[in-house]
Amino acid sequence: MKINDLYDVIIIGGSYAGLSAALALGRSLRKVLVIDSNNPCNKNTPLAHNFITDDGISPHELREKSRMQLEKYKTVTLLDGLVIEVIGSNENNFEVITENKQRFNAKKLLFATGITDINPNIEGFSECWAKTILHCPYCHGYEIKEAITGILGNGDMGFELAKTISQWAKSLTLYTNGISTLSPEEVLKLNNHNIKVVENEIDFIEHENCQIKNLHFKDTPPDEIEALYVQLPFMQQCEIPEKLGCELNEKGFIIRDKFMETTVKGIYAAGDCLSLFRSIANAVAQGNKAGAIINKCLIEEEFAY
Ligand SMILES: Cc1cc2nc3c(=O)[nH]c(=O)nc-3n(C[C@H](O)[C@H](O)[C@H](O)COP(=O)(O)OP(=O)(O)OC[C@H]3O[C@@H](n4cnc5c(N)ncnc54)[C@H](O)[C@@H]3O)c2cc1C
Repeated sequence: MKINDLYDVIIIGGSYAGLSAALALGRSLRKVLVIDSNNPCNKNTPLAHNFITDDGISPHELREKSRMQLEKYKTVTLLDGLVIEVIGSNENNFEVITENKQRFNAKKLLFATGITDINPNIEGFSECWAKTILHCPYCHGYEIKEAITGILGNGDMGFELAKTISQWAKSLTLYTNGISTLSPEEVLKLNNHNIKVVENEIDFIEHENCQIKNLHFKDTPPDEIEALYVQLPFMQQCEIPEKLGCELNEKGFIIRDKFMETTVKGIYAAGDCLSLFRSIANAVAQGNKAGAIINKCLIEEEFAY
């Protein structure tokens, strides 16, 4: 790869959203570089579900399949690497620098860099995360519908999650991990639907090869459990958009307009970095849309005279 190659578009983040955008752009005869550090949020998940044509595939296999399909496009270059800096806030003149000091230039940038879930400091949690501690019933609920299921959450968010999960799990307990902040009305509704509320503080999670077995509390005997849902706090996986001036909303997602453009001209975003609605299908759809819109934007600029 030559130093200072000029690309139409550099896509930072080459998982589902980024690869999908690369396909749309590569097929539009745009010169595209995808740089990816191989750290997608679902990397520890054995099988991904709810993606038509590939329901139940390993997430890694799905990415590899996508990368292989992109290889036939001479317009698309896939590069393994971590982008550490982007220079230039002028539209049509961005310089992207990788950890290995490679430099590339592009007219437009697309961030498809995802988010990082922040695990609570509970022994055993990280080992079970993505295996038997889960965030999304649409992704995994069907497979564990018979499991003795817990929700880790409190207040309105805990209530909403418990309400949702009750569609999948029949044996359900909401663990507030400390004094409940649920309203009396929420507690009543949970009781009416046979959802127990346990306020005991969790000490540690017992598991066998990442299969959750028991929740151990500080003061009381443990509860047997086979699956646990939780909505974790998160941060943007890549801080560069913010450094470039792309604004985040109050939840921490990159703000974009209906054309997938961020608050900085020439910089676009797609996938999990944009919304709580996390799914492979959504990331692919957003990447596809962003790719087409960026291509259209380049066409408009080329026809400006
Ligand atoms: C545990 C878990 C299980 C899930 N299971 C399912 C499921 O079964 N079905 C489903 O539909 N969805 C599932 N999801 C949701 C789905 O995985 C995400 O919605 C999807 O991965 C989002 O794709 P993305 O491309 O936006 O981000 P990601 O897949 O997170 O990828 C972001 C990419 O950007 C790269 N990157 C970040 N910063 C840089 C940088 N500075 N330089 C270079 N590269 C960078 C990362 O290495 C990574 O490859 C799951 C999510 C989690 C957390």
